[in-house]
Amino acid sequence: MDSDLKQINTLAEGLMAGERRALARAITLIESTRADHRRQSAELLRQIGDRGASGVDAALRIGLSGTPGVGKSTFIEAFGMYLVDQGLKVAVLAVDPSSALSGGSILGDKTRMERLARHPRAFIRPSPSRSELGGVARRTRETVRLVEAAGFDVVLVETVGVGQSETMVAEMTDIFTLLIAPAGGDELQGVKRGIMEIADLIVVNKADGELLPVARATQSDYAGALKLMRRREFDPEGFPKVLTASAIAGTGLEEVWAAVRELADWRRAEGWHDKRRGEQARLWLGRALEHAAVEMVTKDARVAAALPGLQSAVDAGELAPDAAVDKLLSVFRNGS
Ligand code: GDP
Repeated sequence: MDSDLKQINTLAEGLMAGERRALARAITLIESTRADHRRQSAELLRQIGDRGASGVDAALRIGLSGTPGVGKSTFIEAFGMYLVDQGLKVAVLAVDPSSALSGGSILGDKTRMERLARHPRAFIRPSPSRSELGGVARRTRETVRLVEAAGFDVVLVETVGVGQSETMVAEMTDIFTLLIAPAGGDELQGVKRGIMEIADLIVVNKADGELLPVARATQSDYAGALKLMRRREFDPEGFPKVLTASAIAGTGLEEVWAAVRELADWRRAEGWHDKRRGEQARLWLGRALEHAAVEMVTKDARVAAALPGLQSAVDAGELAPDAAVDKLLSVFRNGS
């Protein structure tokens, strides 16, 4: 254990000195499921404390989502390059729901952002692959803490437009941005109301060439739709905001950053930033507890032995699900 602790000390020091190799190793540790690695991860997180997460030079966490093809990777590359050119250190993380389903990857592929990936002030990490989305998201949230401790100023967390993953990313970031494509017609391109409700900024990408007038029309459609929604107490006047940008032409990026800053500064000054972080922490505590409790019960050998029979009884309609749970908990506590 002593040599373990020493290793974690060294890792934490390297990480806090901003060493990339230490950061990469720390993330690998965080993503590991091995019980000893989980203990080491907890110790590592304890050692970094809230470094980089609070105070005047605290990192800003930005969530970014959109359907496949909307231009997320192109936008992140362009926006990320804009930010590093301002002298900022930018980390890009991903929560890929497909990694939980199939072990595949529709996001977080490094080769998609080649220029940014090579930049010394940028760090790109693909999505962890786990068996369930909650696990992917929990690990990503811990990784956010690592990159902040390593001195990154902006953490972009990307996800694809699937309800559950978008909500989870919104719940680990300060500002949630939805990227949409220009589209004709007056209906709102199937963007679910729930997503509109969590968006702080909507960016109509591809506002270039022939698509420019369509992008402007889309912008005003969305602005109109947002006006009909209830004003949120944690927004200043004019937010949620709809902007246009072109990731390819590099236009509108400055405006997006200005809007992000305006919103972030206001929320910090008004106390909403800390309140939101606190609520998020509580929420993730609940999720982690739920996960740990389920794991503890279902890994118990006696429970595992009793489960198939109870499952069949529930399937056959002979036993109510709640009654089966009571029975399993009794097996867990008393062995029968
Ligand atoms: P993702 O699936 O959301 O990551 O989308 P990609 O970044 O891979 O982009 C999908 C397609 O849209 C690619 O062919 C891009 O070249 C194109 N694209 C992305 N951004 C823009 C833009 O600002 N303008 C135009 N015209 N095309 C874009």
